[in-house]
Amino acid sequence: MFENKNASVIRGVFILFVSLAMELFDVFLMIAMVGLIASMIGLAVYVVLLSYLEQAEAFSISIGQGHLWKKVYVPRRLAPHLEDILMSHFEYYRSLSVVDQKRFQSRLAVALKRLKIISRDQLVITDEMRVLVAASLVKLTFGYRRFLIAGFTNIILYPSEYYSHATKSTNKGETHFSGMVVLSWEDTLSGIQITNDNLHLAIHEFSHALWLALVRDKGVDLRLKLYQDEWKRLIAEPNNILRWKAKGFLRPYAFTNAMELFACAVETFFESPKELNQTHPELYKVMRKILNQDLLKMQRA
Ligand SMILES: [Zn+2]
Repeated sequence: MFENKNASVIRGVFILFVSLAMELFDVFLMIAMVGLIASMIGLAVYVVLLSYLEQAEAFSISIGQGHLWKKVYVPRRLAPHLEDILMSHFEYYRSLSVVDQKRFQSRLAVALKRLKIISRDQLVITDEMRVLVAASLVKLTFGYRRFLIAGFTNIILYPSEYYSHATKSTNKGETHFSGMVVLSWEDTLSGIQITNDNLHLAIHEFSHALWLALVRDKGVDLRLKLYQDEWKRLIAEPNNILRWKAKGFLRPYAFTNAMELFACAVETFFESPKELNQTHPELYKVMRKILNQDLLKMQRA
């Protein structure tokens, strides 16, 4: 009788212990599962954030009326010899503030990784070519968060003017809807070196790429989407075109079609901002909005 009672107490304690252990196991299992799900979500956020940061490399949080900004930078380093190329050949880079130069370098480092420059006619691709072509893109989209043009990362580089089977003509550059950008290096370089003739081949072709990406509705910055209608309204007004032609400031080629007008207006915006603002203030204004850059302020700095 006594033994039986003892045994049932032991059994009771054992059952209690087992059920407690099972309860604890359930709790631990639950915690582990929650932990696993949380880490998976965390990892996904981290991956998305990283890919975003690689595109934007910085983001800002506005507090109040935009006077307070918190910026988080994940700067990428550009090798010193590549920065030397920028310093000696790229006036736009030299005129940036120290903070913006760091941002430019960071974007350039990403662009150099992403852009594929393909040589034609035995042209030997040098660091100078890679840096200056990529820097032209970074310059064009410096006001954007999305500074690479999705789908337009393959660039064919010829030594000089070339015969294009696509257009059946001798060209200095061309941009295809398929995503191909073709440049003559000789003209790309003179476009960069001569900073006040309103000719900048790489900027011109990348402007086409920007617009084609907008038409594709893939991978363009919100800013371009936002102000495209303002641009379209401006050029849809026949009087504007007549006036601009009569002024003779934009080169005649600009009036070939709407695409060329955009590309030539962008070139002029970068090369002669002061004169463009004086002669075509409405054009300067819409360019400033579309590209989110104010060259006049930059020149004063
Ligand atoms: Zn063109």
